[in-house]
Amino acid sequence: MTAPIPSFDTLLNSIREVTTTVAARHANEVDAQARFPSETIAALRDAGLLSAPVQQAFGGAGCSMLQLAQLCATLAQGCGASGMVLAMHYIQVACLVRHGADDAFFAEYLRDLVKYQPLLASMTSEVGTFGDTRSSVCAVERQGARFVLNKDATTGSYCAHADAILVTSRRDAQAPASDQVLVLVKREDSTLTQTTSWDTLGMRGTCSPGFRLESSAPVEQIVPGAFGDIAAQTMVPYSHILWSALWWGIAADAVNRAAAYVRGEARKNPGTVPPTAMRLAEVSAQLQGMRQQWQASAQAFDQASEQELLDMAWALRLNNLKIACSDAAPQIVHRALQIVGVLGYKNDSPFSLGRHYRDVLSASLMISNERIAAKSASMLLVHKDTLGI
Ligand SMILES: Cc1cc2nc3c(=O)[nH]c(=O)nc-3n(C[C@H](O)[C@H](O)[C@H](O)COP(=O)(O)OP(=O)(O)OC[C@H]3O[C@@H](n4cnc5c(N)ncnc54)[C@H](O)[C@@H]3O)c2cc1C
Repeated sequence: MTAPIPSFDTLLNSIREVTTTVAARHANEVDAQARFPSETIAALRDAGLLSAPVQQAFGGAGCSMLQLAQLCATLAQGCGASGMVLAMHYIQVACLVRHGADDAFFAEYLRDLVKYQPLLASMTSEVGTFGDTRSSVCAVERQGARFVLNKDATTGSYCAHADAILVTSRRDAQAPASDQVLVLVKREDSTLTQTTSWDTLGMRGTCSPGFRLESSAPVEQIVPGAFGDIAAQTMVPYSHILWSALWWGIAADAVNRAAAYVRGEARKNPGTVPPTAMRLAEVSAQLQGMRQQWQASAQAFDQASEQELLDMAWALRLNNLKIACSDAAPQIVHRALQIVGVLGYKNDSPFSLGRHYRDVLSASLMISNERIAAKSASMLLVHKDTLGI
């Protein structure tokens, strides 16, 4: 008998429960020890949340972009690193949902994803490509019905904890750097050797050091189509929207802490409005503006046709969203810190904001804003319909 498909409300209630009872409880320890949030991911798996993007025809909940963004934003309010892991996992699942569903192997894999809830990681970065996800050095070497794929990744979030990794690679040894495919590499088909450390300012629980991947698997595990199309239609939109949502979640928790602090101040002097309340009102307006940005982009994505997603206007809109939200999140946390003061600066206070501050600093680096702005700059030279963005 197949399990009933959970409604979105059920998933949202489940993730709220996981956020407060598991993720938030372990967040400080995950951050301090730079360890993987294994309890949170186990709880997400138990609640069937890892298959939320899988289409209903395969037994998943078939969540829309807006719904996935809400799930990531909720979890990030308890633990930013967990929110980032969930977002990165959803991005990978979405690539298979949108580009593999017509293929017999991937259709079966998606059904299994609902049953077994595997965690998927991503390996787009590579030594020698200097941050450009749209080029690869490594190449798929086909040997009959199998392939060999070896890659030196600079940054591989939670790869050591994942059940499978989606790896970008040149199509074959003769292909130019930009002629890429996306390959599903399962844990049992690969060996991973950690090559660098992950002792960072923030997002410490994502456990993202460099890895040397060596793998061999059946050629059916190569996702059909060109990675260029998968990136434009799925990986980039899902990344920019889900990341923006989780950065908002971290900022929202910072503002919640500031609000709790201000209410505490107000209780000390009944009948007066503390001066920090004015600054709370200002930062809550900025937080609301940030939420409206990712929600509007998610809704527009859910309504857009595949053709529209390839349009330059869409690429510009997503670039603008990523840059705006990655700029806004640190500003909002900074303003929350000014409201709370030294109790926010302390690491051991209930109003502590250090982890939030450090986590959101990753936003502008994770695909560098300079790189994204440079791409937008060249598009704007030829794209005339700027009012329609
Ligand atoms: C928390 C986190 C998790 C990550 N997880 C993963 C993962 O799971 N898998 C994965 O493959 N990768 C992951 N990455 C890596 C990420 O995808 C990028 O590859 C990486 O952030 C880029 O690194 P970089 O800053 O060295 O490179 P670059 O983008 O090359 O930037 C280097 C410098 O060059 C500047 N620069 C770049 N392009 C331009 C330009 N056109 N004009 C002006 N200046 C420019 C930048 O501003 C920056 O100062 C993760 C990164 C972070 C922060």
